[in-house]
Amino acid sequence: MLITDSLLLDYKRCSRRAFLNIHGDPKQKDFKRDFLLKLRQENQRHIDSVLEAFYPHYQCPSPSGNSWREKAQATEALMGQGVECIYQGTLWCSNLSYEYLGRPHLLIKQPGESKFGNWYYYPVSIHLGRRAKPEYKLMGTFYAYLLAIIQETSPSNPQLVIRPLKHSSVDVMQWLPKLQLILEECVTILDKDEQPEVFITRQRCNLCQWYSHCYAIAHAQKHLSLVPGVTPSRYQTLQELGIHNTPSLAEADVHTLEEGIGKSLGRKLQQQAYALIHNFALPRSSHHPDMEKKIAPATVELYFDIEAEPERNLDYLLGVVVVDYLTQTRTFFGFLAETPHEEEKIWYQFLDLVNRYQNAPIFHFSEYEVDTIKRLGNLYQTPEEEIEHLLSRFIDLHHYVITSVIFPVENYSLKSLANWLGFHWRDPGINGDQCVCWYDQWLTTGDRSLLASILRYNEDDCLATLHLKNWLFEFFSKTEFDF
Ligand code: SF4
Repeated sequence: MLITDSLLLDYKRCSRRAFLNIHGDPKQKDFKRDFLLKLRQENQRHIDSVLEAFYPHYQCPSPSGNSWREKAQATEALMGQGVECIYQGTLWCSNLSYEYLGRPHLLIKQPGESKFGNWYYYPVSIHLGRRAKPEYKLMGTFYAYLLAIIQETSPSNPQLVIRPLKHSSVDVMQWLPKLQLILEECVTILDKDEQPEVFITRQRCNLCQWYSHCYAIAHAQKHLSLVPGVTPSRYQTLQELGIHNTPSLAEADVHTLEEGIGKSLGRKLQQQAYALIHNFALPRSSHHPDMEKKIAPATVELYFDIEAEPERNLDYLLGVVVVDYLTQTRTFFGFLAETPHEEEKIWYQFLDLVNRYQNAPIFHFSEYEVDTIKRLGNLYQTPEEEIEHLLSRFIDLHHYVITSVIFPVENYSLKSLANWLGFHWRDPGINGDQCVCWYDQWLTTGDRSLLASILRYNEDDCLATLHLKNWLFEFFSKTEFDF
């Protein structure tokens, strides 16, 4: 069996993903999303900037053929010649049962002893993240492990380069035992016929190409990972209590559940499962005391949503729907920076609009809008009092939802909630990630239809927030509370 660095990385993230990559049916994979391709391009840009800043003089192996064995031979030939810096090298070695393959971004020559002479190499891997994540350290250790076999000396100082152009060392002595354990587990699981169980988490599964396949299985099984609040460790506890799916969680003996998982959490998870099974919303016992007052209808209400490009640290669209109940009008304003330099311009356009309605509440759905107002106010030196007054009008519906209502949804995103409430985006299947890609494409192609699509998506986000707010008001007006 061939164990590659990318397989090991996938295994570290999700054992099922590594298993499906080897044994799964490729026809069941989702198409590569634009966002994945964009991440790949960003990664290459980052690699290029690291090369330019620190390693401008490098050599690439020129193999006689395309196979990884030939690439590994060409890399070893450069190492034997004592080339200072090797970019895109391939490391390969084998034992009786397995072959190992790694492709560190760089191999850097260092004085010392190895089978090549009085020098050896250490690996440098370049990553898009802003902190040295455990999986990056694992990869650095894997490359050091392969190098130790190939050059017959162990490099003690694998390096990571994270953003923005920051070096970090990997403690090989600390990571080597972990690597050996993970390698053992990985080959044991990959050698079996049995697929590791599905466990859906938004963060981990979001960009995985097996998502639709796994989700269909989880949905058919009414898998507990689809109940918000069920983490892998809580899942383990629930299994030990004999609770294996959403209906059994909804019907479980509450005392057993509370004893096993904690009183308040046990009850919360059970109510969440109950809401999902019966498809209705329940008020939480922690219902926010000033909720009805906060969401009571006002003469004018504003609904605010932002589109951002994190790579450029840019908020390029500030969208507001103004609902005026006196004039019975609903108007969308999309302040859009057609170039990154126009962020300041749209900030002042936004301030002009919101200051026209000094007393109107501004509804939004996440902390991001508040953080952005602070960032833009600071960046463009808007008086602090103005920002404070503006933020005092902000009402984060996400906060009120998660503290006050249990919805029959698998996650508490605006999309899930509004869809359940019957609101539909005009362009189905689009999300914020897609808008980031469209904006990027607009900047390179000048295709205005992309801007129109982004504006439509943003307006629908604002309208979904309005739909949610109206539903919440009605729900809390009708609900009688007994707590
Ligand atoms: S979708 Fe999630 S559970 Fe399925 S393979 Fe990918 S990461 Fe693993």
